[in-house]
Amino acid sequence: MDSCYSCGVRFDGTNNSLEHIINNSIGGRWKSRGLLCVACNNLFGSGIDQVLNDQLENFTDLLGISRQRERKDIAVPMKSPEGDFKIVGKGLKPHSKLTTILPDGKKITEYVEDAQFKEFIEQKKAQLKKKYSISSERFYEEKPGGKYYKIQNSLSNEEFDIGFGGEDFFRSVIKIAVNFYIKLGYEIEWVQLAISVMRKEAENEMAYFFYVRPERYEIHNLGENEVSHIIHLRGDKSKRVLYAYVELFNMQNVLIRLNSDYHGPDINKTYAIDLKTGEVMQKDVNIILGRHHFEILHLIGRDNMKEKEARYRRVEKLIEKMQLRE
Ligand SMILES: [Zn+2]
Repeated sequence: MDSCYSCGVRFDGTNNSLEHIINNSIGGRWKSRGLLCVACNNLFGSGIDQVLNDQLENFTDLLGISRQRERKDIAVPMKSPEGDFKIVGKGLKPHSKLTTILPDGKKITEYVEDAQFKEFIEQKKAQLKKKYSISSERFYEEKPGGKYYKIQNSLSNEEFDIGFGGEDFFRSVIKIAVNFYIKLGYEIEWVQLAISVMRKEAENEMAYFFYVRPERYEIHNLGENEVSHIIHLRGDKSKRVLYAYVELFNMQNVLIRLNSDYHGPDINKTYAIDLKTGEVMQKDVNIILGRHHFEILHLIGRDNMKEKEARYRRVEKLIEKMQLRE
């Protein structure tokens, strides 16, 4: 591309940005010049992409996936059905909560890796003694228990469904599909509406969560311990539809109707990244939809909440498994 696909400004050697096809904050590694200008990249980065990051980056860290801008102090809250919280840090090491009450009544809360907890308390005591000339203080600690905890996202204390999704989340997923489409060199005209939605110039009426029960239909062969991101792009000239299917962590699964009056070439392209190794994966994605499916797209996604929850729970299980190994 010689110009930004979002705003159309011509690249002049200073305004060409390095865009990640899939957001780097969730482990995307493939990046490309010639897609977005610096201004658009920044605008999306601090807007719609930030929304997606806030919802999903805890999973990036809990799964131990590397990225460019690593978070230094990671304290991810997990919540049990009883309402108890457990904090885990980088590398899934359980962190205990330490609350120190200062003589003036002020409370300081810190999260400390369990292995260093005792040592930390001793240091803390010595510090307080020196600073306030007091010999003892009360400490509160919360040790991790053996219960089932749900992972929270960075946005809210709500569980599972409530804190995920939303208009800007879908806009960011649409951008992933459009990045892939443009990167492959196809005509911009067929994704013009998708670009308008990304730019918030149009409402999202094209991207919806999409889950089917695997006993009914297997979209792709998901390995037992696989954690991947998948982008599948399909253009069907005879049915006049262009659509994309995106899986993030195999649990945020979204179908995007990019164009329902499509006259471009037949397309069947897939990109998948194994998040544990960072390697590109071979994937056969089997999702063949007709025009009528897209008319009821907003209903299909709603019908499969059980499968959605199962996919989410699967990732949590993998994270729990990794925790036990620590
Ligand atoms: Zn631009």
